Amino acid sequence: MSDDNYHRRTAITRLVVSSTAEPLLRETVSEWKRGCQTAVDKAWTRCHSKSDVQQLAYDDVRENTDLGSQHAILACHQAAENIKSCISRRQDGKKASKPTYTSPTVTYDSRTMTLFPDQERVSLTTHGDHSRVRADLELPDNEDGYQHQYLDSDEWEPTESTLHYRDGGWYLHLGFRKPKHDTKGEATENGTVLGVDLGVNEIAVTSTARFFSAGELNHNRREFERIRGNLQDHDSRNAHRTLEAVSGREDEYVKHVLHSVANGIVEEALRYDCDGIAFEELDGIRERLSGAAWHSEWAFARLYEYVEYKAEAAGLFVDTTNPKHTSKRCAECGFIHDDNRSTRDSFECQKCGNRNHADYNAAKNVADMYLRREQQSSRRRGVSQYALKSGTVTPNRGYTPYPDGFEVKSTDKLHRRPTACMPSDHV
Ligand SMILES: [Zn+2]
Repeated sequence: MSDDNYHRRTAITRLVVSSTAEPLLRETVSEWKRGCQTAVDKAWTRCHSKSDVQQLAYDDVRENTDLGSQHAILACHQAAENIKSCISRRQDGKKASKPTYTSPTVTYDSRTMTLFPDQERVSLTTHGDHSRVRADLELPDNEDGYQHQYLDSDEWEPTESTLHYRDGGWYLHLGFRKPKHDTKGEATENGTVLGVDLGVNEIAVTSTARFFSAGELNHNRREFERIRGNLQDHDSRNAHRTLEAVSGREDEYVKHVLHSVANGIVEEALRYDCDGIAFEELDGIRERLSGAAWHSEWAFARLYEYVEYKAEAAGLFVDTTNPKHTSKRCAECGFIHDDNRSTRDSFECQKCGNRNHADYNAAKNVADMYLRREQQSSRRRGVSQYALKSGTVTPNRGYTPYPDGFEVKSTDKLHRRPTACMPSDHV
């Protein structure tokens, strides 16, 4: 996370690149890698501020590469950033050797890239004297991608972005920023978190009422188990080899599911303009969840790890809170009682009558309790409210609907509705 005066977010989109633009971008990638390497080679052990590296290495970068002047500057800045992070790694007692540039990426800023949100297009500077190339942003067809939240916003302005080539395609990681301070120059503590509850029937439920069902995962796992059971009855080498192959396939399958859930959670946070994501602490989660199998803890730890790095790439923080009472506490009135949770899926408050899906109630509690603790913490994140589908909740202050301008595109059709009754509260 950046510590400067801006909130930063990254929206990822695929690019449609023409066959004429393709080789130019490829060449720009290789010039960029060479430029960064030149700058690092020159500045390593000598300096690490952007201006120092630029002063020292700029001429070399221009001489050694075909990069234009602005990209040469950006390459120097990239080198400075990387040297700086090596220094801080070493300060933390970790190893850090001189960076080498192998990944196919290029950094862009407002001088080397122009974004046309209305046309869903971008123009990118390439190397040498070649003109810019234009490419269409391949945004989700149904127009409810979180990317629109930033592209169509007056509040968020485009900033440094990176072009990536991977899996045979081009992707743009579009950077956006907005000031952390209000117009009076006062730091605003109105950041938002997304609460996430983890469970057995639903892998995850967010405080914005997005449900990630575990139905298919649990079904397929039972299938894998059945196949393994059959194979274990055969005591042959062949069966043993097949058994290993099946286990490998199961691992891959589970990881694939967890990746897509992690992507969904991060997208949900971006869609609702959140600054971070709050989970319950994972320690002892298996004991807390009835019906959780041995692999659940492993899966939740994996999921958390995936969310953590995907969120970090998008400029969001991820944190945990003590899970005490999250399943038995009423998110509306705070009343805690064993009887509030009559079955695994349904929650009914014995005091205020609030009825809700139990995991959704818990997701709100996770966010609520995270915020209450955060208010007393010394390392504050500047968050004070959590996101619902239709507004935000500030602990002790209550519910605020989203302003008229804040239009979250409907995602209802994409997601399974919760099974329990949804009350008339702020869903
Ligand atoms: Zn209640």
